[in-house]
Amino acid sequence: MRIVLVGPPGAGKGTQAAFLAKNLSIPHISTGDLFRANISKQTELGKLAKSYMDKGELVPDEVTIAMAKDRMEQPDAEQGFLLDGFPRNVSQAEALDVTLQDESMNLDAVLDLEVPEDEVVKRIAGRRICRNDSAHVFHVTYKKPKQEGVCDACGGELYQRDDDSEETVRKRLEVYHTQTEPIIDYYKAQGLVVTISALGPVEEVTQRAMEALKREDDDK
Ligand code: ADP
Ligand code: AMP
Repeated sequence: MRIVLVGPPGAGKGTQAAFLAKNLSIPHISTGDLFRANISKQTELGKLAKSYMDKGELVPDEVTIAMAKDRMEQPDAEQGFLLDGFPRNVSQAEALDVTLQDESMNLDAVLDLEVPEDEVVKRIAGRRICRNDSAHVFHVTYKKPKQEGVCDACGGELYQRDDDSEETVRKRLEVYHTQTEPIIDYYKAQGLVVTISALGPVEEVTQRAMEALKREDDDK
């Protein structure tokens, strides 16, 4: 399956993607994680991306689309993928359509995670991620690591993302509403959107998501 996950920052896209990707045997492709890996390795792309990420702005389309395309062309993504954080505006969605059409492929579903803004703010404020791999995500109250400050998955140090500060989060939410939300209508016009509530325990949200994706697949 080829799936796009959408939802505001802090909705739980990365958390759900980890389980969904495993259940569906497809890779989880997060452009945010790809940028953070570039920042850790101090690449030119990482330096450029950081200057936008720290302000809560979108990294320019040209580099983002090239990076996402390159990742989607890796052998492990041949049978499908779960995109998290991409596309993030209508131009990126159009570019993705062109890329897929070139390969005679199409998206199967766009899973829209709905969470009220006050909950999103609480989730982001308590988020802690692993220095070794930003896909290892914890929360100080909702998903406590066994040992404070230490990643359960690999023993790495947990830290708060620079862009999870209150001011940057406000900007990221504004960017979400103005630039990313319009892709929901873009995909609704293609009949691809399934919306679920992302409130409640992580496992319940995963179950809701799997049921919604199955319904969407059965309808095809
Ligand atoms: P996104 O990828 O959408 O920005 P994350 O998956 O990083 O969001 O989740 C944001 C924070 O909320 C993380 O700290 C995560 O542990 C926590 N979280 C995710 N899903 C839930 C949930 N269903 N209930 C409570 N906290 C959650
Ligand atoms: P995320 O990890 O998805 O919360 O993304 C963190 C930051 O990375 C965003 O606030 C953007 O600055 C940048 N980013 C991630 N994905 C994209 C994208 N598709 N387009 C532009 N910028 C992105």
